[in-house]
Amino acid sequence: MDKKTVTEKAALHLQELCDVIGERRVGGIGNREATAYVEKVLRELCWETETSPLQVIDWQSEGATLTCQGHEFTVFSSPYSLGCDVSGELVAIDRVEQLKKTNFRDKILLLHGEITAEQIAPKNFPFWNPEEHQQLISQLENGSPKALICATGHNAAIAGGAYPFPLFEDGDFHIPSVYMKDSEGVKLLSCVGKTVALASHARRIPETAYHVIGRNSSRKEGRIVISAHIDTKIGTPGALDNGTGVTVLLLLAALMRVHSDYPPLELVFFNGEDYYGAPGQICYLEQNEGRLGDIRLNINIDGAGYKEGLSCFSPFNLSDDLSAMLQEVFAENTGLVEGLPWFQGDHSIFLQNGCPAIAVSSQWFIEHMESQEITHTPKDNLSVINYERVAECALGIVAFIEKIAGIS
Ligand SMILES: [Zn+2]
Repeated sequence: MDKKTVTEKAALHLQELCDVIGERRVGGIGNREATAYVEKVLRELCWETETSPLQVIDWQSEGATLTCQGHEFTVFSSPYSLGCDVSGELVAIDRVEQLKKTNFRDKILLLHGEITAEQIAPKNFPFWNPEEHQQLISQLENGSPKALICATGHNAAIAGGAYPFPLFEDGDFHIPSVYMKDSEGVKLLSCVGKTVALASHARRIPETAYHVIGRNSSRKEGRIVISAHIDTKIGTPGALDNGTGVTVLLLLAALMRVHSDYPPLELVFFNGEDYYGAPGQICYLEQNEGRLGDIRLNINIDGAGYKEGLSCFSPFNLSDDLSAMLQEVFAENTGLVEGLPWFQGDHSIFLQNGCPAIAVSSQWFIEHMESQEITHTPKDNLSVINYERVAECALGIVAFIEKIAGIS
C-alpha cells in the first residue's frame, strides 16, 4: 500500500471514529460503537480478536446551579460525581493545612487557590496516585461536608486543555461536587459564612464497556504489543486524543496481515486511559498476570497526527539493537523524528513492568503538553489533524517491525 492509499484510509477511519461516532466516553454508546467498529475491522482483516466485557459506570448531568441570596454562580457537575440538592453555610479553604483545622461538617465547602492547582488522582487509580492526593481525599471524607465547590484554573499536563478543569473526576469518591472558574470562585468568596443553595443534577448509571485485542498469532512469547486508548473524555470527539492512535492500529492491521514472517503482534485498544478507573488497563494486566515478561516491546500511540510539526517516536529502555533499528527508521522515513521522553500514556504501564517501549506522538503535542488547550475539549476535532502524519506513523511502525523481523 502506498502512502497516498494509507493516508486515505486514515481519513476514513478518523471520520468514522470522530465525526460519525464522536465522543467515546467509557460507558457511553459511542464507546461501544467504537469498540464494535474496531472489532469488525480486525475481523475483516482476518485478525483473531478477543473482546472482554468491563463493568463500568456511565454518567450524565442535566447541569448544576449555585445561588446565594438571589445571586447565581456558574458551576458544572464534576464528571462521575453524585448529584445533590443541598443548602448550607459556605466555608472556604485554599490550603491543605486548613483542612485539619476547619470544621466543615454538614457545610458546603469551597476549595480555591493553591489547593486546587492540580487535578486530584482518582481514589482507586492504579498507575498514578500521589500520597498527598490520597490524604486530601481522606481528610475531605472525614470532614464530611454536604458538597464541594471547586474553583480551578488551567492544568494542561494532567487535565488537558479544559478551563476550568474538574478537580475531581472520580466515580469512587462519594461527596457530591461541582467546579467553576477560578475567577467565579473569587466572586463566591463574598458569600463565605452565608447560606448557599447547590443543586447538581448528575447521576451514575451502571453500564458495560468492552476491551478489544487483535492478534496475528496465538504465540505469546516475544510478542510486540502495539496499543492506543480508544476512549475519550466527556464532551470531546477525541481526534488527537486518541482517534489517531486507534486509526494507526487499524492501519497496521491492514498493513501487516499477510506476511507470515512478522513476530507475534498484539493490537490492544485500551479502554479507560481517560476514565477514572482505567478498567481496560486493569483487565489487561489481570489477563497477563505473571506473563508480562513475554512482551518484547510496547509501542503506544497517543496524541499523534497533529497538523503542525512532525511525528515523534520517543524510545524508553530500548536495547542497542532496537535503538540502532529505530535510528534507521528515522533516516529512511520522512516525517518521523526522535521525541523527548514523556510518561502520561499507556506505555508507562509497560515501563513500570520492566518492558521497553516506544511512545508515538506529535512533536508539537509533546512540547506543548503543559500549555496546550486542545485535548479533552471540543477543539480536539479533525480540524487539528494532518492525515498524512497519521499514515507516516503507521508506515514507520511497519518499517521498524520489519527490521526487527529481518524482513527489510
Ligand atoms: Zn490520550
